[in-house]
Amino acid sequence: MKFLIARFNHETNTFSPVATPLESFLPLYGDDALNDQRNARTAMGAFIRLVEAQADHQLITPLSATANPSGTVAAEAYTTLSQCILDALSEQPDAILLDLHGALVAENAADGEGELLKNIRAIAPDVPIAVALDLHGNVTQSMVEHANIIISFKTYPHIDMAETGEHAGRLMMDLLSGQSRPITRWKQLPLLSHTLRSNTNEGAMQRAVEAARQAELEEGVLAVSIMAGFSLADFADAGMSVIVVTDNDEMLADSVAERIAQQLWQEREGFVYHSAPLKESLEQARELQKSEGDGPVLLLDHSDNVMSGGTCDTMDVLATALVKHLTPIVVGPICDPKAVQRLWKLRPTDVVRVDIGNHNQLAHQTKKKKSLSLVGVLRARSDGEFIVTGPIYTGAKVSMGRTVLFDTIDALIVICEQRTEPFDMGIFSCVGLDPSKYDYLLLKSRMYCRPVFGAIAKGLIECDSDTGGPTSSNYAFFPFTQLRRPMFPLDPSTEFVY
Ligand SMILES: [Zn+2]
Repeated sequence: MKFLIARFNHETNTFSPVATPLESFLPLYGDDALNDQRNARTAMGAFIRLVEAQADHQLITPLSATANPSGTVAAEAYTTLSQCILDALSEQPDAILLDLHGALVAENAADGEGELLKNIRAIAPDVPIAVALDLHGNVTQSMVEHANIIISFKTYPHIDMAETGEHAGRLMMDLLSGQSRPITRWKQLPLLSHTLRSNTNEGAMQRAVEAARQAELEEGVLAVSIMAGFSLADFADAGMSVIVVTDNDEMLADSVAERIAQQLWQEREGFVYHSAPLKESLEQARELQKSEGDGPVLLLDHSDNVMSGGTCDTMDVLATALVKHLTPIVVGPICDPKAVQRLWKLRPTDVVRVDIGNHNQLAHQTKKKKSLSLVGVLRARSDGEFIVTGPIYTGAKVSMGRTVLFDTIDALIVICEQRTEPFDMGIFSCVGLDPSKYDYLLLKSRMYCRPVFGAIAKGLIECDSDTGGPTSSNYAFFPFTQLRRPMFPLDPSTEFVY
């Protein structure tokens, strides 16, 4: 049997000014895609391993392409990468297994995944398709209509990508052998969840995933997925939904989807995040620092979360922390190639004033904010490359571009040339810095930093910008024009008919 397996992932923050050209996806084609993914803990890796364990199989792996979250995908990138998958259909696969995100918005395709699946179906109408999604996918009618099986991750922070691939792949094998006839039903809610409320280890999201796992134990239910959705997308179908796959039982699929959707709606307040004013958050941080225990207080700047399309260069939290004397503070990284260029050639004795950050105009701003002007010295420089030692992406190589450590006495700031989510100690060790020795540690992250930096910290405080950042938690900052309305919590009196 011939299996087409491909990976094409992007979480698009349509409000982010960070461009997403073809190069961002670092695409691998054919055997390069196969070899790269064979042992990966991804859905594509799981698909490959499952198929290679079959006695008689043939693999077609046209593509493995994934980019970090950023702005709308360039038309050329979307066309090139989807065409690569469509072209491979000429090899006439018996089944298609796709590792997608679910929240891809391109310049030429608002519903990136729905469009891709529709186009695949147009060429290969009878070939079954199974899809593994990130739980932050914004599911659409087109996606559900044109795939036989859709299953999303059940964890955030995401640690079950491979398990999700295995699950979807197993259902495909059962479909092919005639053991089951999967059908998919979907229930969409008028509910924008917040990323910080899609943590599957707590609150409403944990209870929702638990309900999904329980439902999967019911006779005839093959898979239940809770889609938290991705809210920083000005896209008609952004928001939460439930996907249910049953063994050819539409009524059962509908009733499970409705039951869980009802639970999500009843718990809707649990998916909303209310930001505290920045000064209040920083006061809490100061109080926390006075408490017993070792290590810095983590300040998480979620208004500029790199893994949701942040620019990695807004300065509100640092500027206010310095005004309020939350020092000594370690910050990292700030992406500012200009500042790196300026600092790179300095001698350790040179004292300079440098303008740092705020180089991007954001969707809700009529003009750019000013950079933060600070005086200090160059403390260290590095090529910014390191191998990840933490639990997320362990062993992966990260390149931040040229990286410097700028010391202003009050603040030690890691400045680099590439936007980089601070999820590994390598961010600081590459410039010889141990952040555990300082009082405060400011990171542009929501979730990925927690396993490594939470472990060395006294505690953490979530900080939002009062005037909005590229990934602000206050959705009122974002000029939504395409999103369907009414939508909770933007429209508080929204009703949902089950
Ligand atoms: Zn996600």
